[in-house]
Amino acid sequence: MVAVNKKTFFGRRTPAQIVQLDRIEEVPGDLSVLVRKIEQGGSSDGLIIQGEILPSDAFPTVGKFKHHGGLISLPPFSSVAQARATDVVPVEQRVEKFSRISAWRQQYFRGYAFRSAHPGDQIPRVITLVSCVKGAKLFTYGVLQPLAGLEVIAALDDAAMVEEEGAVVKVMVPSRNAHRGRYTVQLNSVPVVDSSHKQVVASSLSVDHDCEEKKNHIRFVYAHSGRLSKELFLCPHTIAAYYATMAFYAHPAKRSVREQTLSVFDHENHVPLQMNPFVIPTQFAVSFYEFLDHNCVIEHEQPGGSHVYRHLNDGEKEAILWTLVKRHPPTFTDMLRKGKRRIDDAVGFAHQNITQYRWGAP
Ligand SMILES: [Zn+2]
Repeated sequence: MVAVNKKTFFGRRTPAQIVQLDRIEEVPGDLSVLVRKIEQGGSSDGLIIQGEILPSDAFPTVGKFKHHGGLISLPPFSSVAQARATDVVPVEQRVEKFSRISAWRQQYFRGYAFRSAHPGDQIPRVITLVSCVKGAKLFTYGVLQPLAGLEVIAALDDAAMVEEEGAVVKVMVPSRNAHRGRYTVQLNSVPVVDSSHKQVVASSLSVDHDCEEKKNHIRFVYAHSGRLSKELFLCPHTIAAYYATMAFYAHPAKRSVREQTLSVFDHENHVPLQMNPFVIPTQFAVSFYEFLDHNCVIEHEQPGGSHVYRHLNDGEKEAILWTLVKRHPPTFTDMLRKGKRRIDDAVGFAHQNITQYRWGAP
């Protein structure tokens, strides 16, 4: 196992370093052109993107995009009974949905969402592809750096109602910022029992946790609609916490000494993994994302004729990643081995264990 350092693992090249890469190319902000260029790889070390990625008439700010961009809704359940009757797991819903978005006219997507099967709880759970990559990277950091302290600290799963209401799991999650301590993330309605209720439980997943990314999401929506967010934004810390939970239940033998006392489930339990609501990026998607972070800048011309360069923001990266999914639907969903439902991988449904991916500058 490779020991990793927080600063280098999450660091990225500055815009000034990117524009000084050897083979740098100028490209327009057009989504399809950009995606094709990055996919080809090899022909350049870096890209200077000229012109806007998100059209400023529709999305004058990234906040507008986070509010008004297209949202891909997974098919909702009409009732608890319908959810209990289905044997389709979340990854199959995503494969089905993502494979059809290439035909949509909408070009700019801000994420995907699912809703609870309980009619009284209609708050969409919103997830971005950017968060899924960041969450997978954060989980990887927690696995590769044992001192980071990624750990389950409570697993309330012995109550009589756990089958119908799910477990409550608290996880300590490292931060990505060198100056910030760990976060406590409490996941509610975690499916841990393999019964007809698991779909209902999984669809009702919620989280108690606060961080800047979550607050920003709420602020953006508020600033642009004047009302409080009616969405539950599932941030990278939440995703890393869910992956830690999947690993906790799937591999009881790997639990820390402290974790060993927490759960009544001491056998391998793949239910959290099977019902995972988050897309797991492939190695291809990760390398693509890292290229955006380490090798691409946006160029803005200043009134005096000088040029400034900046990193892409999360909204721009999100729109680019969905364009990648449109071109290659399996990029984020090629985790299902059809007919086999293989769930013996560390974080399941992925071709490879994500902690063995190549992360960082390509
Ligand atoms: Zn967070």
